[in-house]
Amino acid sequence: LQGHAQNLCDASTRHFSSVPSPQSNSTEENGFKGHGMLAPFTAGWQSTDVHPLVIERSEGSYVYDIDGKKYLDSLAGLWCTALGGSEPRLVKAATEQLHKLPFYHSFWNRTTKPSLDLAKELLSMFTAREMGKVFFTNSGSEANDSQVKLVWYYNNALGRPDKKKFIARSKSYHGSTLISASLSGLPALHQKFDLPAPFVLHTDCPHYWRFHLPGETEEEFATRLANNLEELILKEGPETIAAFIAEPVMGAGGVIPPPKTYFEKVQAIVKKYDILFIADEVITAFGRLGTMFGSDMYNIKPDLVSMAKALSSAYVPIGAIMVSPEISDVIHSQSNKLGSFAHGFTYSGHPVACAVAIEALKIYQERNIPDHVKQISPRFQEGVKAFAGSPIVGEIRGVGMILGTEFADNKSPNDPFPAEWGVGAIFGVECQKRGMLVRVAGDNIMMSPPLIMTPDEVEELVSIYGDALKATEERVA
Ligand code: PLP
Repeated sequence: LQGHAQNLCDASTRHFSSVPSPQSNSTEENGFKGHGMLAPFTAGWQSTDVHPLVIERSEGSYVYDIDGKKYLDSLAGLWCTALGGSEPRLVKAATEQLHKLPFYHSFWNRTTKPSLDLAKELLSMFTAREMGKVFFTNSGSEANDSQVKLVWYYNNALGRPDKKKFIARSKSYHGSTLISASLSGLPALHQKFDLPAPFVLHTDCPHYWRFHLPGETEEEFATRLANNLEELILKEGPETIAAFIAEPVMGAGGVIPPPKTYFEKVQAIVKKYDILFIADEVITAFGRLGTMFGSDMYNIKPDLVSMAKALSSAYVPIGAIMVSPEISDVIHSQSNKLGSFAHGFTYSGHPVACAVAIEALKIYQERNIPDHVKQISPRFQEGVKAFAGSPIVGEIRGVGMILGTEFADNKSPNDPFPAEWGVGAIFGVECQKRGMLVRVAGDNIMMSPPLIMTPDEVEELVSIYGDALKATEERVA
């Protein structure tokens, strides 16, 4: 495909001013012009001349904007409303807890029943290996920040003050607070924020399509990456590396499932050098891949686990980390020595958030949501992957209920479309026009819909995807 920038010049404007809202000026009419919000991860409408899409209500797998237009929410909010947007049991759990005890904290040997019950339930649900304790946060970013602090505290307790560096992967997303943005491997999170912090190192992104050498199999690619990881550890000195952090399937970096044998090989390397393994399950926990946790899917035996998002199906903010019994034992003895474990948030174990999360976990188990995902995901995966032959699609990849599409010319990761063509943005607009919201990041499209989707909703998603792709092809080809 060549030389079509001309008829896409309007698209390029769109690309740089964020996806236009095909729903017109409604936000202005509704008084949103000149809003006062410094919106997260947004460029265009900060300056008030581009209108945000304002979502007003939700129902199952759908959301509605302020004009009443209905959209299939193919990203489940931000990879999080696993039980959809209108689960009455979650609303009831929140309301009952709000009436009974809207708040009490968990500091200084005081706590609440919902936080104790939730910790117990999480420990029993995580079966990839035995876990010792749960610490509650308000978000995935706070969970990953807390991981770093706990690991430092642990190594100080063990008399290893030099074992403090973290290895994360290029293109990973671990959050946007100081430490979690440092761990993340996306340049935009670092640029002009004076990040990453010096104790964070990044190793290869495990994206086979993009990075494999000619003739290299997935297994050989995984071996090469594990060897590179070992080289990095040896170069830095194993005595300086505290932990390795990885999402079982990379999410915001473009939906990148691991190549075959990858986790087996990197786990062997980190174990060899006494480096802790942190599984960032903020997206993959609670059924997303068709197993209760991503660790189950890839036989990961983590020392620490981060969770958030689907933990409460996003109805209220809550995150959590689980630590192994060995780590919790060391933390206990150290804090007993110091007289305090001086880490925590006012809202750690917030009773309303915990009550909602307990109910969400009950639903995942009672309705066997991982099994439901196993039922519906083959059609989701195969239906969308059937479009992989499109001349503008480079790769479609995913597992369970998470899918990424990367647009490229000539099916090659080395032939991206010019950014100013805004191919991804055009696709996003075409989906939106047809009543579906997708995540657009450059020429990457991401979908991670509610896990409660019906087969008919999966068909609708596939059909809108196909029509939007055709419309995009017509504008590019
Ligand atoms: N870790 C992963 C894998 C994520 O996908 C995200 C958010 O998308 C985070 C951490 C950060 O979570 P939060 O936005 O709740 O801080």
